[in-house]
Amino acid sequence: MSAVLNAVSLFLQFAEVCDALAATTKKLEKRALIASYLDGLEVDDASRAALWLCGMPFPETDTRALNVGGSLLSKGILHLSGAGDEALSEAYRRSGDLGAAGADLLYGRAPARASLTLAQVESAIAALAEARGPDPKLRLLLDLLARATAEEAKYLIKLITGNMRMGVKQALVEEAIAETWSAPVAVVRRADMLLGSLPEVVALAAVGRLDQASMKLFHPLGFMLASPVASVQEAIARFTEEVAAEHEQGAPAIAESALREAQIEDKFDGIRAQLHVAPQDSGPSRVALYSRNREDLSASFPELVEAFSSIAERAVLDGEILAWNPTNNRALPFSMLQQRLGRKRVTAEMLRDVPAAFVVFDVLYREDQLLLTEPLDHRRSVLEDFCTRWSPFTASAAVRGQSDLFTLQQNAAVPRLILSLATRLTSAAQLEDAYVGARARGNEGAMIKSLASTYQPGRRGLAWLKLKRELAILDVVVTGVEFGNGRRAQVLSDYTFAVRDTDSENPGDPARPVFKNIGKAYSGLTDQEIAEMTAWFRAHTLEDHGHFRIVEPLVVLEVAFNNLMRSTRHASGFALRFPRILRIRTDKPVAEIDTLRRVEEIYASQPDKPAGPVDA
Ligand code: AMP
Repeated sequence: MSAVLNAVSLFLQFAEVCDALAATTKKLEKRALIASYLDGLEVDDASRAALWLCGMPFPETDTRALNVGGSLLSKGILHLSGAGDEALSEAYRRSGDLGAAGADLLYGRAPARASLTLAQVESAIAALAEARGPDPKLRLLLDLLARATAEEAKYLIKLITGNMRMGVKQALVEEAIAETWSAPVAVVRRADMLLGSLPEVVALAAVGRLDQASMKLFHPLGFMLASPVASVQEAIARFTEEVAAEHEQGAPAIAESALREAQIEDKFDGIRAQLHVAPQDSGPSRVALYSRNREDLSASFPELVEAFSSIAERAVLDGEILAWNPTNNRALPFSMLQQRLGRKRVTAEMLRDVPAAFVVFDVLYREDQLLLTEPLDHRRSVLEDFCTRWSPFTASAAVRGQSDLFTLQQNAAVPRLILSLATRLTSAAQLEDAYVGARARGNEGAMIKSLASTYQPGRRGLAWLKLKRELAILDVVVTGVEFGNGRRAQVLSDYTFAVRDTDSENPGDPARPVFKNIGKAYSGLTDQEIAEMTAWFRAHTLEDHGHFRIVEPLVVLEVAFNNLMRSTRHASGFALRFPRILRIRTDKPVAEIDTLRRVEEIYASQPDKPAGPVDA
């Protein structure tokens, strides 16, 4: 740490550092900028700054929310600048960012001298979160923005919207913390994962006590992801590679035994979720379910929360929420589960018609033991033990005699915590059977998991493979929309979509993914979905060309198709034959859509690909 510290740090300095960060795409430069900034701050200020640099007003473990949206911010900007709607829309169109637009309008109107400190901004943010209703929030927002220079207002607005747009991810801030306080990056990352709070990480780093971080529940850890494979043969080849890498031997030597080092499970078609549970001083345990997008899903699944509140142990489990049919003990189709998503109020009818269950396939933490670095076969035995102990208690609310008569009659036999069946893999033929069996049970395909693998949060490696139903499915993002024909002439029903071209991305600037269009589809969605999407796309249009609009790349679709062709029509160099939209994937972050590399792989594995310049 440097000897000279700023006793009181101004928010202006934070804003200037942010400007400098936005001005470079080089990761090393960004990291050095952050590290030297943090180094010059008192610990309390460094804690605040580290958090805000990631665009987070509050730490992950903090359940407070600002609930200040674009419209309230726009109102504040209009009020303080005296500008009209038109001027704001124009400024917004120039930058595509409300913070920059706000600053544009506030120049000359806002105070010229900076006085806001980081501590004052923190209190103002806390007050905003606490205020209830738009009017009190607007008053507080005006108070805060009125004290800010235009430059500061820019970053206050960005922070409130949660998007700094300067290519700084949490991982980079972790690295900068490591640099500032001379700690190994892995130790910083581990502490951040356990605590879910950058301010606490900074506080520990500053006193050299990062190793004392211990697990805090109720903030989602990253999910381990699987790599897709299209055939049993590909699965085995890939898996052999993985085992060979683990054993650091040549693949041929290991091929024979590789299979026996994996387990197979059904691949369930539901919503991936992480369950956190912890006993409280009195009453039922606290329970939360988090999605892959780090959203808290608990309110949508009250029956699961209620069922798991009888688990009297601290644990973090990984699994899939499914709509469950207790009569045949199988999952109901995903479309039924979808009806349960995003509801503020779950009706008794829904609880009855679409009962939810949690199929669990991994355990990350149990009673003070973090299990991430344990091999899967050990985690699996911990999980089996956990389920033997707690599944009976969670079977259904009715069994415990706590629910009303209605639930008692209808849902008495719904299991809520179901252990995913896992079988030791021994042969290719068995994998083929497992796949067919999974499909017959109404599931999507099969998963193959290396028994020696650790749980790698946020990583898509070869330790988990997913063998999916159809070769021809891609998760894509919508980049352009058009009005349809005939009765769809008034709605935006035709979608142009893209995959990610990770090879063309600037590794120093991961916040800017590169998308390459690959196709266009107009069938598969219901009229209601199209109506909702039309409203959404109107509000998220970047460029309006009349019939065609370029839209913000935020909507993820699952698209099926019959074949891939080389084509110059789209930037990806490929086109899809007979594409159809299977569903809107609200559960999937845009960063995780399929890549151009994946498209190349599918193309190369296509048995009936037209002869041409194929790089396989
Ligand atoms: P996808 O959503 O198509 O990228 O496939 C990966 C997803 O498979 C994971 O995120 C999980 O939601 C899901 N999944 C289904 N069954 C399993 C399982 N048995 N083990 C791990 N992941 C599973």
